[in-house]
Amino acid sequence: MNEITLKTSKRVELVDITAKVKEAVRKSGLEQGLCYIYVPHTTGAVTINESADPDVALDIADQLNELAPPGKSYKHREGNADSHIKSSVIGNTAEVFVEDGRLKLGTWQGIFFCEFDGPRTRKFWLKVGEL
Ligand code: ZN
Repeated sequence: MNEITLKTSKRVELVDITAKVKEAVRKSGLEQGLCYIYVPHTTGAVTINESADPDVALDIADQLNELAPPGKSYKHREGNADSHIKSSVIGNTAEVFVEDGRLKLGTWQGIFFCEFDGPRTRKFWLKVGEL
């Protein structure tokens, strides 16, 4: 399994990790199979969406802030309940097929680490294998 770290720069942002994932898949030498990504954080997540237009990631972050606004009176005393909610809405896993040694993403798709309580140093776990 690979552990890949990244630094985030805002409280809420989607960071394109496609290049990091592609590099890990290339290094693995796997020709056919599955790439599995897991985010081991309660205020982070991973999603696949459009990377061609960076405004899409900004819109997703903005709308998640509308859904779970920071500073609202939540029960969780740590003060980051909105971050936990955003993490659960998006989810902690993503899977992409590997075909001919390459990630099989759609034309406009990219993989994003979702930061919901940054900025921080974060990590995700990645494993590839045959199906
Ligand atoms: Zn918390």
